[in-house]
Amino acid sequence: NKQIIFKDYVSGFPKESDMMLKTSTMGLKVPQGVKGVVVKNLYLSCDPYMRPRMRDFRGSYVEPFTPGSLYSYSVDVMQPVVGCGVAKVLDSGDPNLKEGDLVWGMTGWEEYSLITATETLFKIQHTDVPLSYYTGLLGMPGMTAYAGFYEICSPKKGESVFVSAASGAVGQLVGQFAKLLGCYVVGSAGTKEKVDLLKNKFGFDEAFNYKEEKDLDAALKRYFPSGIDIYFDNVGGEMLDAVLVNMRLCGRISVCGLISQYNLDKHEGVHNLVCLVTKRIRMEGFLVAAYFHLYPKFLDTVLSYLKEGKISYVEDIAEGLESAPAALVGLFSGRNVGKQVVVVANE
Ligand code: NDP
Repeated sequence: NKQIIFKDYVSGFPKESDMMLKTSTMGLKVPQGVKGVVVKNLYLSCDPYMRPRMRDFRGSYVEPFTPGSLYSYSVDVMQPVVGCGVAKVLDSGDPNLKEGDLVWGMTGWEEYSLITATETLFKIQHTDVPLSYYTGLLGMPGMTAYAGFYEICSPKKGESVFVSAASGAVGQLVGQFAKLLGCYVVGSAGTKEKVDLLKNKFGFDEAFNYKEEKDLDAALKRYFPSGIDIYFDNVGGEMLDAVLVNMRLCGRISVCGLISQYNLDKHEGVHNLVCLVTKRIRMEGFLVAAYFHLYPKFLDTVLSYLKEGKISYVEDIAEGLESAPAALVGLFSGRNVGKQVVVVANE
């Protein structure tokens, strides 16, 4: 069983060499008396929240990885990197799952996994879409876009919406949801290719490359001369600071993530937080985990949008388990164009 293992805690930007490929042996049957499943991993998801888990810090909403830790069921098999993925059940000791079922949820970065926390797995009912979509559009990032936009931003037709990291797994969907509602939508991204994608594929009204803007405040004023009603924040830092002064009265900010800060030992200061008071802005942080009760409604909505051609989804597919470390660290330099997925095996 090939596995990707974290070598040690990481400071600064993560590197491929922070992970290693290891081979271990593993039985493909669930051990007697264990209520778990053995799965064959098909697709793995690379997600920015995996970066905070590489730090030796407890007390956040996710526990850190423990480099070098062993599986509880074994005296010599190391735990691989853990993340969201799509897998096929090979053997089951759980009455709710059977051999051949396709599932998505928390799995290991390895060819085969024994998953005992089966409550974290969702059975895949709709297989007439690419299965990799359950790492993105129809999985955790899709739910993040859905809950973070509709629940946190209370959007209304005609409002002005700004999305950062807009071409990524979450951002591309937020922008398309906002357009479907009849909002004016602008996105920022880090390359010309991504800016073109936002305007030409996802139907954003405008988009700009934030790396080419010397003055973010001036850039926002160019696209939002009358201000921003809704900011879907994926990046934090300087962009958030520039957005605050450009918010309209009673605006809403969905604080989804702060990727610009994840590799810093100490977060940079935001200078304009007083705007929350003077402009009566609602800025709300959220964790997608609190919204999974909406999953059936979300799946209905998004599957119909997809099948009616109302939304599209762009993925960046890396081939093979060996390519997973590079794919993960690429998130922090913007190498990925769209949702970063790793193909481990075909069904
Ligand atoms: P993406 O697919 O968007 O990949 C990350 C992108 O972030 C990169 O491609 C890059 O795009 C951009 N980026 C990287 N470094 C920086 C930087 N220093 N400044 C600005 N942009 C940067 O990731 P996701 O869509 O999966 O995640 C987006 C955000 O949502 C993250 O902050 C993540 O932590 C958060 N999130 C929050 C959840 C929640 O429950 N609250 C759940 C899921 C995700 P570019 O080339 O445009 O710079």
